Amino acid sequence: MIYLDYAASTPVDPAIIDAMSAAMAAPGNYANPSSTHSEGRQSIDLISAAAERLAALVNTSPDRLIWTSGATESDNLAIFGAATYRQDRGRHLVSMRTEHKAVTDPFATLAKRGFEVTWVDPEPDGRVDLGKLESVLRDDTQLVSIMHVNNETGIIQDIGGIGALCRDRGILYHVDAAQSCGKLPIDLDALPVDLMSMTAHKFYGPKGTGALYIADRKGVHVDPMLFGGGQQRRLRPGTLPTQQIVGFGETAAIAAQRMNQDLAHLRALRDRFWAGIRDLPGLVVNGSLEHGFPGILNVSAEGVEGESLLLALEPLCVATGSACNSKSQEPSYVLRALGRSDELAQSAIRFSFGRPTTDAEIDAAVELYRGAVTRLRQLAPVAA
Ligand SMILES: *Cc1c(COP(=O)(O)O)cnc(C)c1O
Repeated sequence: MIYLDYAASTPVDPAIIDAMSAAMAAPGNYANPSSTHSEGRQSIDLISAAAERLAALVNTSPDRLIWTSGATESDNLAIFGAATYRQDRGRHLVSMRTEHKAVTDPFATLAKRGFEVTWVDPEPDGRVDLGKLESVLRDDTQLVSIMHVNNETGIIQDIGGIGALCRDRGILYHVDAAQSCGKLPIDLDALPVDLMSMTAHKFYGPKGTGALYIADRKGVHVDPMLFGGGQQRRLRPGTLPTQQIVGFGETAAIAAQRMNQDLAHLRALRDRFWAGIRDLPGLVVNGSLEHGFPGILNVSAEGVEGESLLLALEPLCVATGSACNSKSQEPSYVLRALGRSDELAQSAIRFSFGRPTTDAEIDAAVELYRGAVTRLRQLAPVAA
């Protein structure tokens, strides 16, 4: 088995597992952080330390972070929360069809509840054209949500440029940074970003642990989606999961330390893989080598059927489209939005690389992919 699906999830670093175990079992650490006794204080201190570490990773202050169960919840809280909070000022929202379902579904739901959603078309490589985006912004636009790194194609959006357009007009800008947090430098103090979703399990941390950044700026606020004990300034109540948050803090600290090294490693792996397959005829990169995050390479092969290709690649753990859509036979909606035909979209394989990936694994993947594409084309020649 060769795991090349790090964009779907990652193994948890053993140092993080140790920190989490200690947070559950060590005397005092397991107390309810909402309690006022000294044991409760101890778990609050653990949580505060974790917030410092995550805040340092994205250069903000720890009191700007709300803990959630993951990027899905952060996206929902940001989108429903901001749209509802600002609905008296206007009901126009803007996003893209290439976003993760955790963003497109909340917008589709809001569209059924009396909001108007404009979907900006991506350029062929998946990036948004700032002029096109600007042309759909209106006086009643309240929220724009466009992600940082796309989970299927790896394309990197210009979040600084998008945010600047929004800020000039008093529009809130939300970024789904599930694929970039801990992998690319993010400076929230400098960026015109109002809301940002993060999740630990995409960068070697535990599942079920996320955060939402909320900028300290007039007009930036979200209505809560959950109601209960009043924790986290009532924005997201519920007993804080100390061990999850400690794990997220450790994840952030390791990522901050390793970011340059990780990026160089991913770039070398991606380039090695691409160099190994690029001479095959009829390959189409979904995304862009130039503007893409090097941890993801999404390739279609003309004249090859996707499900057969996935089967032929059996020892490789890869994805067709995103993990969430792999189970359906439908071609990826993200690739369709980029203008790919059904056939081409169906043959797409997302290879994603990670810290543990080795050159030997890349070489084996190259052999498997070359063999599979060549064999399938001989078996069932389809007019390209
Ligand atoms: C994985 C992912 C999510 C969902 O995150 P969870 O923490 O698994 O809920 C949302 N958006 C993007 C871009 C992702 O890659």
